[in-house]
Amino acid sequence: MSTQTRPTPLTSTTEIISYDPATGEEIGRAPQTTAAQVTAAVKRARAAQPAWASLTFRERARFILSARQIVLDEIDEIATLISRETGKPVSEAISMEIVPTLDLMHYFARYTANLLRPQKIDIGQYGLMGRTSRIVYKPLGVVGIISPWNFPWATPLDEVVMALMAGNAVAVKPSELTPLTALKIGDVFERADLPAGLLSVFTGDGATGVALIDAPVDKIMFTGSVATGKRVAEAAAKHLTSVVLELGGKDPMIVLEDANLDNAVRGAVWGAFANSGQACASIERCYVQESIAPEFIERVVAETKALKQNVGTAADTDVGAMSSERQLRIVDEHVQDALQRGAHIPTGGRRAPDFAGTFYEPTVLIDVDHRMEIMREETFGPVLPIMTFRTDAEAVALANDSIYGLTASVWTKDIARGKRLAEQIEAGTVMINEVVYTHALAQTPWGGVKQSGFGRTHGRLGLLELVSPQHVHVNRISFVPDVWWFRYSPPAGKLFHGLAKHFTTGSVVKSSRLLPQMIRRFFEIRS
Ligand code: NAD
Repeated sequence: MSTQTRPTPLTSTTEIISYDPATGEEIGRAPQTTAAQVTAAVKRARAAQPAWASLTFRERARFILSARQIVLDEIDEIATLISRETGKPVSEAISMEIVPTLDLMHYFARYTANLLRPQKIDIGQYGLMGRTSRIVYKPLGVVGIISPWNFPWATPLDEVVMALMAGNAVAVKPSELTPLTALKIGDVFERADLPAGLLSVFTGDGATGVALIDAPVDKIMFTGSVATGKRVAEAAAKHLTSVVLELGGKDPMIVLEDANLDNAVRGAVWGAFANSGQACASIERCYVQESIAPEFIERVVAETKALKQNVGTAADTDVGAMSSERQLRIVDEHVQDALQRGAHIPTGGRRAPDFAGTFYEPTVLIDVDHRMEIMREETFGPVLPIMTFRTDAEAVALANDSIYGLTASVWTKDIARGKRLAEQIEAGTVMINEVVYTHALAQTPWGGVKQSGFGRTHGRLGLLELVSPQHVHVNRISFVPDVWWFRYSPPAGKLFHGLAKHFTTGSVVKSSRLLPQMIRRFFEIRS
């Protein structure tokens, strides 16, 4: 079959055309939302938000759970749409996108009230003076979500659910490659009777994303590349809008000599090739201890050769098409660069010749080193480069030799050794004997360090990004003036020295020595 390049998505002034990357066929069209439309919709969202924020968590949860039921009822239709827009197998659309979101919807519907319960703060000796402090968590207003194409369902939907449960209105700007999946999210919530204006989906390209930031909104949750993330942070800074940046990764897998080899091999192959390697947490670098390297590589290669590559809608497809021609070209450039610098390819290494769409063969690379793009830049495709190491220290140094720090994994039966290494690795998440999947855990924080971004999504830390913590401080003894108020005098100065020496130690016994001076000061201020 001849190879055919997938048309890049057409963005005219009025609409975007969405194509199936596996076949090049048009799937449907979506509007190219204009800046004026974005501004007007954000205004409507702002007007709708206070009534939503006044609902109880239980009342908000009812809408989330109705939407959840609609997703469950239409799971096959939604999975097929995701598969057709991205090229991923329907099975992955279900296992990696829909199952985690159903779980997350349930979790935050049930536990947000608890996670955002007002918190009392222990203020030490001030507490003894009849003062109390607590934090209440207030919604931000309108949260803007800008999302990529690789998990077009899970990434925006997770954040929509969390932002809504926290009492916000939400505006989503999905990737121009996957507009129809995002419109389906809007459709689900509309049929769940979410109050009008509260959730908007703005299909469009980068310009629509810029318009959303400039609307302006009260927070930007951005997931995408490092280059765009920097532009987003810059644009948001003009409005002093805070941002969470979930950016790229070059995630390392370290396989120690005592690892369970069967599982390490399967984990490496799934972690590198699931979603055609287009997950921010895909294994992009594998480091295996020298003594087990020959056997590990042989088994990884055999396992890779056994994978079935086909259109995502076929029931037994393991690896589908890549999502775009542009991404496929990046993958091929990295592979070619590695070959020129001395790498070898035991399997794969080319565009799959039997398909019309953007299929790249699952590829294993050996004899790689850190001069090569494949070990430095985000490849975001079905490629697993494997390098060897001798000592634990060397493995950690190799893992940390990257501008990225999203996730990492260590494979060993010695959990204490695994944890020791984990603590030395620069990454937002380190998994021991696991790979990729913690994005699916609603309870745990997700996010990176270094150029992988900042801020968190998911878990309580992710929820806290979507609220404004307000500190409420109460002095119950309202008739007693504070000793540090006007007017100042020599006895006041003496007392302040006493505070510096005794009160700041936190010791009630030491502070009690100041009591006579404090009482004198009280009368001094009142006189
Ligand atoms: P991208 O940066 O090209 O686009 C992301 C989104 O930003 C799209 O919706 C795009 O239209 C929009 N956009 C483009 N220019 C913009 C601008 N100037 N202002 C505002 N918005 C703009 O990323 P992509 O190619 O869609 O996604 C792949 C990248 O996403 C990879 O680098 C991957 O690692 C990363 N990613 C990270 C995570 C994570 O959790 N850290 C998750 C998924 C994907």
